[in-house]
Amino acid sequence: MIPPTDPRDIHCISVPTPYLVGPVNCYLLDGPSPVLVDCGPATEAAESALRAGLAAHGVRPSDIDTIVLTHHHADHAGGLGWLRRESAALVVGHPFNDLWLRGNSDDLNRQSEFYAWLYRYCDSPVPPASHLLERATDAAAETGYSTLDRPLVEGDSVELGTGLWQVFETPGHAGTSISLVRSDGVALVGDTLLQRISSNAFAEPPYPGETKRHRSLLAYRRSLNRLAALDVSLVLPGHGPSFSDHAPLIARRLRNQEERSQRLLAGIDEGHVTVLALTYLLFPGLAENQLFLGLSEVIGHLDILEEAGVARHGGEAPARYVRS
Ligand SMILES: [Zn+2]
Repeated sequence: MIPPTDPRDIHCISVPTPYLVGPVNCYLLDGPSPVLVDCGPATEAAESALRAGLAAHGVRPSDIDTIVLTHHHADHAGGLGWLRRESAALVVGHPFNDLWLRGNSDDLNRQSEFYAWLYRYCDSPVPPASHLLERATDAAAETGYSTLDRPLVEGDSVELGTGLWQVFETPGHAGTSISLVRSDGVALVGDTLLQRISSNAFAEPPYPGETKRHRSLLAYRRSLNRLAALDVSLVLPGHGPSFSDHAPLIARRLRNQEERSQRLLAGIDEGHVTVLALTYLLFPGLAENQLFLGLSEVIGHLDILEEAGVARHGGEAPARYVRS
């Protein structure tokens, strides 16, 4: 198969990250006012790679007119700290980015309390409060900025670079995830769809308008179904190469999720009834620093089973799951 050609007016700048996922893609959009989509993590290596990538296209950080955030994660938004010191760029993205990035102590405390509750819900040992706060402050400490200059929400159209982009809210990998689709079918999707890795749907606290835990994997599956129906010719993802034929890939991802849910339903039948026990069933020997990912994954699948009416839980500290 011939690999898809990236549009001439969009340049991918690969930026190293200290995370397992590997380098992150930032995109420079040519046009009268240069636009940067995502800005890498807050590390020296990332900063110099991004500077070099911009310079290769004749762009100084101070030339950047707009920074688009596909979502709030530290490998995509951490570079905001140094970029905002050097440029007057407007920052645009989903309004919920603020909850994670503005560094407001009420937000951070609410997030760390939520994660403490979540570990108890899972029957997992609760990490020390300082670790929980660290998780919450990860990106915020690095960016330390107040508010988005312009919120982008479902249904918006936004002029970026040389084109007009349609905004879709695609929550799941993060509640702040948006996808932007140009009239020629080029799509910037952040981490919502990657070709070589299946994205995680991280457990997150309730967002404004929600009273209970955000159902990340259920939201993610709705977002994938929506993306599959869009007329997309080329996906420019947050990690890895660009690709076309997004719909069959999405169908495969959804199928794999359903298979994993069925494995967990069988696990419940075998007597693994807490999130922690089911996590170790699915990922035997899971490293401690990967535990949160594992718990997030399993909670997501239990939400699928509950929504399908085949399982339910009682209690919250910990929750115990049974077949229904
Ligand atoms: Zn991410």
